[in-house]
Formats: sequence, structure tokens, C-alpha cells
Amino acid sequence: MIEMKNVSVRYPGAKHDALSEVHLSFNKGDFICILGKSGAGKSTFIRSINGLQKLTQGEVYFDGKQLSNMNEEQLRQVRLEMGMIFQLFNLIPRMSVIQNVLTGIFGYRSNFKNLIGLFSNKELEQAKRVISEVELTEMTNRRVELLSGGQKQRVGIARALIQQPRVLLGDEPVASLDPGTSNHIFTLLKDMHQRLDLLTIINVHDIDLAKRYATRLLALKDGKIIFDGPPEEFTEKN
Ligand code: ADP
Ligand code: ADP
Repeated sequence: MIEMKNVSVRYPGAKHDALSEVHLSFNKGDFICILGKSGAGKSTFIRSINGLQKLTQGEVYFDGKQLSNMNEEQLRQVRLEMGMIFQLFNLIPRMSVIQNVLTGIFGYRSNFKNLIGLFSNKELEQAKRVISEVELTEMTNRRVELLSGGQKQRVGIARALIQQPRVLLGDEPVASLDPGTSNHIFTLLKDMHQRLDLLTIINVHDIDLAKRYATRLLALKDGKIIFDGPPEEFTEKN
């Protein structure tokens, strides 16, 4: 479904590649965790997949189509097929859970004060359904700043799900959560992955968490893939 061919990224002025000659493909059924220390290139990797990152070299393909050949509208369509969750949730403050979830229908750019009136009943029903899937029904109309970290990330997941994506990308989605909450979020993500047949690709820095949930584990170091395989074969020496 996703193919990276010889992908490198070097930021302007940097002496080394942030991502170096990555050659990989990902298919439906994979629940991939990407391990690596801070600065290893994990965020750059995720941004390269959804077309947000300008590549220095190489190509990324989605369903066989090259991202760099796409116009803005085609890229927008691809990003709608790729739900995204973030370390700091990226929710819109002063808006309710359901308003935040509905922004997923537009992508992340809309900033309307009163979104509710703009949506059809079908879309409102969809929003309620994904909110119930992340077990937040009783918080539907609560402002997001009143939620706990784990609840905020569940809003982030619901916002991704309302796009009905085929791919779910996560950039350190549990890095600011405690271990118990992190586990709960991963359980939820694994369940979505299986039920909705989502290709899931998530950055984590917690090795135990990655080993527990991944079906395929990648490790990045200095922009290079130093491990790609089943979690049980990964040791800290990698
Ligand atoms: P993270 O925890 O996501 O790795 P970082 O502190 O590395 O957070 O990065 C935060 C933001 O700053 C990101 O948008 C990243 O692209 C940008 N950034 C990181 N390192 C640099 C750098 N050396 N120069 C400029 N921007 C950077
Ligand atoms: P990670 O997510 O694993 O922490 P990143 O992909 O954020 O790694 O960063 C990889 C390398 O690229 C780091 O050396 C970081 O400082 C650098 N970097 C990241 N974003 C930027 C940016 N916008 N400008 C310049 N350097 C950056």
C-alpha cells in the first residue's frame, strides 16, 4: 500500500541526513512500531509517508502513485486516507469533543467557531459513533481542555477515524501519557487496527510497549533503518 524508495531527507544546513536511504514497503495487516531515540528521524519518517515532508532524494508511493507528482487536491485526498495522531494531540481548545472530532472531516485546517450547524445529520451520527468507539460518549459536549491526557488522545483517535482512513499514523502518541494510560491507548489502537483493517504505523520510544503491540518493528538510528523484523527478534543491542 505504501512504498518508500531510497528516501532521504536532509534539512537545510544540516551536516547529516535526518532520514537516510530508506527502502521499505508497508501493507494492510501491519501494526508497525518505530523505535528510536530522540533525533533518530522518527517524526521525519512519519511526515515523509503522508506527504508533509519535502524529500531530498527518493520517492514515496501510495497505492502505486507517486506523492511528489500529486497536486494539492490529490495530496489532500491521500491525507484523508491517512489518519494522523500526535504527541500533543493537536486539538482545538475551547471547542467540544464532538466539534474537534468533526474537524477530521475537513482535515485539520478548518477553524470555525460553531461547526455543528455545518454538518449533515449523517456526519453528526458518524461523529457520535467514533466517539463511542473511543469510549467518550459521556464527554461528547465537554470542552477538550477539561479532559485528561488519555481522553484527549482518544479524541485525537476519533478525529482520525471519522475520516474513515485506511492508514493510521502516529507521531509519539503516548509520549506525554503515563504507562497505564499508554497501554490503554495502545489496546484501543490495536483493536481499531484489527476491526477496521487499518495499516498502522506508530512512533514510540518505549521498547516494551513497541514489543508488546507491534506485528513488525522498525528501529531508526541517525536516520537509518537498523532493524526491521518481528518484535521477538529485537534486542536492545539493535
Ligand atoms: P519531537 O519530540 O517531536 O521529536 P522536537 O523537539 O524534536 O520534538 O521537534 C519539535 C519541532 O521542531 C518539530 O516540528 C521539528 O521538525 C522541529 N525541529 C526539531 N529539530 C530541529 C532543528 N534542529 N532545527 C529546526 N527545527 C527543528
Ligand atoms: P525524532 O522524531 O526521532 O526525534 P526527527 O525526525 O524530529 O527525530 O529529527 C531527526 C533529525 O532532524 C534531528 O537531528 C533533528 O534535530 C533534525 N530536524 C528535525 N526537524 C528539523 C527541521 N525542521 N529543521 C532542521 N532540522 C530538523
